[in-house]
Amino acid sequence: MILIDGKKTAFELREELAAKVAAGRHAGRRPPGLAVILVGEDPASQVYVNNKERACLAVGIVSFAFHLPAETGQDELLALIAECNARPNVDGILLQLPLPPHLDAQACLLAIDPAKDVDGFHPQNVGRLSIGLPGFAPCTPAGVMELLKRYDLSPAGKKAVVVGRSNIVGKPLAMLLARPGAYSDATVTLCHLRTANIAGECRTAEFLFLAVGRPGFVTVDMVREGAVVIDVGINRTPQGLRGDADFESVSRKARAITPVPGGVGPMTIAMLLKNTVQAWQDLA
Ligand code: NAP
Repeated sequence: MILIDGKKTAFELREELAAKVAAGRHAGRRPPGLAVILVGEDPASQVYVNNKERACLAVGIVSFAFHLPAETGQDELLALIAECNARPNVDGILLQLPLPPHLDAQACLLAIDPAKDVDGFHPQNVGRLSIGLPGFAPCTPAGVMELLKRYDLSPAGKKAVVVGRSNIVGKPLAMLLARPGAYSDATVTLCHLRTANIAGECRTAEFLFLAVGRPGFVTVDMVREGAVVIDVGINRTPQGLRGDADFESVSRKARAITPVPGGVGPMTIAMLLKNTVQAWQDLA
């Protein structure tokens, strides 16, 4: 059984990115810049933002922190986004979600220049992904695809099942898996709450992707012998962080599996850095 180590893979990716940034700097380029916009004092968001800013520093990306009070108005936020769009030393813009309820998150995401949309949430990038044009893919599903590539686990021609259809994970992941390419080209089924026979669908999967948000949702009887199981779920339980699969039993039947924590999780920030370095290189 292959234990897919996202922590190690994310570290390797960060080293590669640091080398790319160092080479650009050596050639006289300014460093890549990421604007990180946080509105309000949500403690979880503050932790995420701190982690992202620290990760930027480690690869040589300059992070511009904009930590705004919870009562910031829509116009003020849009003006800041416009300023970041215009600034030549900002390559990527990260708007930490969720926003306080009085702000319109969709309108703010739409205001981000698609060329600086390193989270891949702008409808233009979503559309590009769906028709196979280059653009930024959302970081978590992009991290899943990176793991498949680096562990040489190709779903090409195989039956893939994705459980969960959110805009940030399940749906873009299904699109990435179905597009033509060496580490995609899968035959994809996308499941959700209304799926009639979820256990039966999961059992057909040679590649099973879980983005449900329910600890231990997938039990060993729902998994095909020798399946590759990629568990995106991060669920806080009294026993600590748990994935959507019952790791203990499922790992005995799977050919390869991601643990939680230490699987897909660390790849998300690494892909944010990768997208930012990509945006910086695109401008060169
Ligand atoms: P979400 O927006 O809540 O979506 C959950 C999806 O699962 C929905 O499409 C829902 O179906 C489906 N679902 C829920 N219960 C189901 C059931 N009993 N049977 C079939 N489908 C069911 O969640 P998300 O944002 O995609 O996140 C999913 C998980 O991934 C969470 O644990 C989250 O913490 C984790 N996550 C991890 C990372 C990371 O690793 N960095 C990033 C993002 C999210 P409906 O559409 O029908 O409601």
